[in-house]
Amino acid sequence: MAKSRFEYVKSYELPDILLPGTYIIARVDGRGFHKFSDAHSFEKPNDRRALNLMNHAAGCVMEDLKDVICAFGESDEYSFLIRKSSKLYNRRRSKINSTIVSIFTASYVFYWPKFFPNTPLQSPPSFDGRVVLYPSAREIRDYFAWRQADTHINNLYNTAFWALIQHGGLSTTEANKALQGTDSKDKNEILYSRFNINYNNLDSIFRKGTILVRRPIEPPQELTIPNESSGVNAKPVDETRPQVKPKRQEQYEGVTGELDILHEDIIKDGFWNARPWLLA
Ligand code: ATP
Ligand code: ATP
Ligand code: MG
Ligand code: MG
Ligand code: MG
Ligand code: MG
Repeated sequence: MAKSRFEYVKSYELPDILLPGTYIIARVDGRGFHKFSDAHSFEKPNDRRALNLMNHAAGCVMEDLKDVICAFGESDEYSFLIRKSSKLYNRRRSKINSTIVSIFTASYVFYWPKFFPNTPLQSPPSFDGRVVLYPSAREIRDYFAWRQADTHINNLYNTAFWALIQHGGLSTTEANKALQGTDSKDKNEILYSRFNINYNNLDSIFRKGTILVRRPIEPPQELTIPNESSGVNAKPVDETRPQVKPKRQEQYEGVTGELDILHEDIIKDGFWNARPWLLA
């Protein structure tokens, strides 16, 4: 196609390629969700419907962008880890960032009625997004530990805060004041002695957040059905591999078949040692 004389303005779009061979974290966070959660009568301290909707929207991102290997969500935020060898959008930062925020936000709105059938949207929810690079597995481990520690700190505070209001009859100002200067031991004690709540018995989705993990796709060799495939493109069956029952490729794709939804500790080694492909 012939170029117009205006085409030169395109050259002002500068490259924003992310450093190759580095881990990419993209995080989205709800804008003004303190207000948004009030306007839509979220249950306090934790609205399960809202968390499920966040998890679903994150699943939509992972369904669309296969290089997102795992994700962690709490409250109104979600972090996505993109494989360090990823070539997604030629690693263009703004393209990756904007696409993730857009898929997430659109999915959140699209699926809202499924999770809040009796609560019409009062205003269009929006999310901000950022992309950060990390040089090694150490920082990725610490990044997720940071977010999960944050989940714990916030949830313990919010659980105590709302117990004082909902069961203790305090005003928000009074509850705030009652918790001033308390450490986590004090908050556990308030919950247990005054409200008979054992913090450790609360649902793990509230205490640990949600981790979405992509399981490795079965290698194609194992999907080859012997005798059925022939000709030059047929792949030999490797006898040294564990032979799995042949399944159709499609069964290995799609959110439900591929993603594990977990609410467990990701600060200690166990989670990561069991899934070496996440940091490969
Ligand atoms: P900003 O635009 O700066 O992010 P914000 O109001 O969204 O401001 P955050 O620090 O992101 O502030 O906190 C999100 C707030 O949204 C929480 O403090 C809580 O009040 C509310 N919220 C989010 N998810 C839930 C949920 N599942 N249940 C109850 N409240 C929630
Ligand atoms: P990419 O994801 O790379 O942007 P794309 O399919 O969105 O791919 P674009 O170059 O952005 O490609 O072009 C958008 C296309 O969407 C148009 O070529 C046209 O086919 C279609 N389209 C957009 N708006 C309209 C419209 N108002 N009426 C009819 N077709 C439209
Ligand atoms: Mg924010
Ligand atoms: Mg927010
Ligand atoms: Mg937040
Ligand atoms: Mg387009």
